[in-house]
Amino acid sequence: MASISTTPDETPEEPTEEESALETARRQLQHAAGHLDIDQHIVERLKHPKKVHEVTVPIERENGDVEVYTGYRAQHDSVRGPFKGGLRYHPEVTREECVGLGMWMTWKCAVMDIPFGGAKGGIAVNPKDLTADEKEQLTRRFTDEIRSVIGPTKDIPAPDMGTDPQTMAWLMDAYSMQEGETIPGVVTGKPPIVGGSKGRDGAPGRSVAIITREVIDYYDKDIKETDVAIQGYGSVGSNAAHLLDDWGANVVAVSDVNGGVYDTNGLDTHAIPSHHEEPEAVMGHEAPETVSNEELLELDVDVVIPAAIGNVLTADNANDVAADIIIEGANGPTTTAASEIFAELDIPVIPDILANAGGVTVSYFEWLQDINRRSWSLERVNDELETEMLAAWSDVREEFDTRDVTWRDAAYIVALSRIAEAHETRGLWP
Ligand code: NAD
Repeated sequence: MASISTTPDETPEEPTEEESALETARRQLQHAAGHLDIDQHIVERLKHPKKVHEVTVPIERENGDVEVYTGYRAQHDSVRGPFKGGLRYHPEVTREECVGLGMWMTWKCAVMDIPFGGAKGGIAVNPKDLTADEKEQLTRRFTDEIRSVIGPTKDIPAPDMGTDPQTMAWLMDAYSMQEGETIPGVVTGKPPIVGGSKGRDGAPGRSVAIITREVIDYYDKDIKETDVAIQGYGSVGSNAAHLLDDWGANVVAVSDVNGGVYDTNGLDTHAIPSHHEEPEAVMGHEAPETVSNEELLELDVDVVIPAAIGNVLTADNANDVAADIIIEGANGPTTTAASEIFAELDIPVIPDILANAGGVTVSYFEWLQDINRRSWSLERVNDELETEMLAAWSDVREEFDTRDVTWRDAAYIVALSRIAEAHETRGLWP
């Protein structure tokens, strides 16, 4: 194979607690590649995005001022299918963050065997500073700026931090108006009335619950005798809590940003309002004890599920975690240093790219429904999600059982083998 010119490897030698998404994505790639016989040229190529689009997005504010924002769409790899990934509106969005998070999407789609590659985009803006009309204007103008590089067979955005189903509906409308026909498959996470899928909202929490159930079984525990603590009671945390509770697990603690409630006899999770039903209402639920978010992660339970934000399990608290199993509901809740401590302590950490991948999986179902112009019932969505999750779990478990690796490594090995094999098979355009 001809040599590929790359820019210098920016991956640092030692992990730091402040590691960026890009550094983490590259480190995990290199780590998984060490277990596989892959052409190093392919690994080098995967350390870099295929393209990063940077655009300026001017809008006229309601006070008459013109404000110019910067937007990005980082497209990492499309060897297995169109680019796929979220679009975030947040003041700290950067080119580098989009590249790193786009790489994570490549691994997540590959571990699930979904025929998509990875992308991420966003606009550096605080959406709370904008009125609904300004946010709509921003979305429509951004869509037009990136219109030539997105589309149902090219790159399919989805909601992320600061964006929601309404944002996706504006994006779909702006794209469709310019193309002259209704094209719902250009985005996922839309409201069902314009082509969104049933079951999309609950899907990441559902996949977390399915994987938790399988892991409990793998470690010869009985779900009915399993104590679970969940940090974060939003889309991921509350949906996972409800299902695990329904399946007989003892959900003993849940929390939101203000702290958590704790009952060793198990909480009635359906009686606790989720973040979307009533924001920050967890502490209002009557329970024998309350815990801080730090204490929740250190409870003596069978399973702990961080499902709120990233970097909550660090070198500072990893040694105090008393749970037997950690399931990553949030994206990136465990720092590299904490992961190494958990490996030494033999505490299994089931990685985010597998556990919460129900979101992108049902996005794939949404795209299938859109391009086929045929909607699925909620029952079908949930059945097919169960099938996809069990298949991915089985693939990861096989790598874990046959190699001396962590669950995270096993998931990355599954993902990277698929991506590398696709690159080998397609070959390199001269
Ligand atoms: P959400 O906004 O619906 O809920 C977040 C919850 O976390 C709320 O209960 C909030 O009070 C709590 N929280 C916020 N800051 C906290 C803090 N500092 N400490 C403790 N709790 C805090 O969010 P979500 O959609 O459930 O996402 C949670 C995580 O899962 C994020 O990392 C997200 O990236 C990831 N994720 C979400 C999806 C999805 O489609 N919703 C898919 C995959 C991964």
